[in-house]
Amino acid sequence: MKLLSFSYDGQPSFGALLEGNRICNLSGVTHRGRSIDSMLDFIREISVGLDVAGAIGAQREKTFRLEEVTLLAPIPRPAKNIFCVGKNYREHIVEACQAMGVPPEFPSVPEFFSKPPTTVIGEGAGIRRHEANTSKLDYEIELAVVIGKTCRDVSVDRALENVFGYTIINDVTARDAQFAHGQWFKGKSFDTFCPMGPWIVTADEFGDPASRTLKLTVNGELRQNSTTADLLFSVQQVIASLSAALTLEPGDVIATGTPAGVAFGMSPQRWLQIGDVIEAEIEGIGKLCNTVVA
Ligand code: MG
Repeated sequence: MKLLSFSYDGQPSFGALLEGNRICNLSGVTHRGRSIDSMLDFIREISVGLDVAGAIGAQREKTFRLEEVTLLAPIPRPAKNIFCVGKNYREHIVEACQAMGVPPEFPSVPEFFSKPPTTVIGEGAGIRRHEANTSKLDYEIELAVVIGKTCRDVSVDRALENVFGYTIINDVTARDAQFAHGQWFKGKSFDTFCPMGPWIVTADEFGDPASRTLKLTVNGELRQNSTTADLLFSVQQVIASLSAALTLEPGDVIATGTPAGVAFGMSPQRWLQIGDVIEAEIEGIGKLCNTVVA
């Protein structure tokens, strides 16, 4: 099932994508005696027993057509920072080390950083160029995991039991700020630097995340083209490592790293400019499209 957030007539809402590109509006569905008005609340209530099929049945008459709504990020304002993994595709590690003039070095554990909730934008929204703050604007397509259960100290074998679904994230990066500040947070955290969407595909529909194709184009030119088979740390290993002594909660989002082909790894390097159209597509999810704006 595909679950999405959107605005209709200026009113933020969320729902499920049905046959024929119709959206069942799930805003206002009730559970445990209260009304649920956001995807984040919906995911939280599912973790304590809300039945999705029942919710859709109860809201059956409340539908929109996909083309009459404006898509928002599936979780427009996450409750906490987006968890991210750096250096997680082998070929990307090689290209990044080459660009820095150092021998390839593969981390022995996942390298985590985060992006604040204020970075999040949805399908079709503009990525701000931030000209005064960066001259090296870059893109990174990533498979993102949405956590569905409160969990901690999760084993690799049972990691996927805690996944609610998957979406696409573009981990937009100001490379100069990323390196100038010693750690990555600042250069990854400018406003609009986390396009997310177009929707969440639930884990049962998505299936095994082991070998999914990821493709990113800039103005139609293929820049990134890889599969999750190149991951250094699998989705399961990332969840297990992150959750060690750290509680994950329903609605938490983990971006699992980007494959080769970023502007930083090109020779010459070709940074994003105003007007560039970036399309990020992952097999089994769909396509996330954003344009760079002033
Ligand atoms: Mg990244």
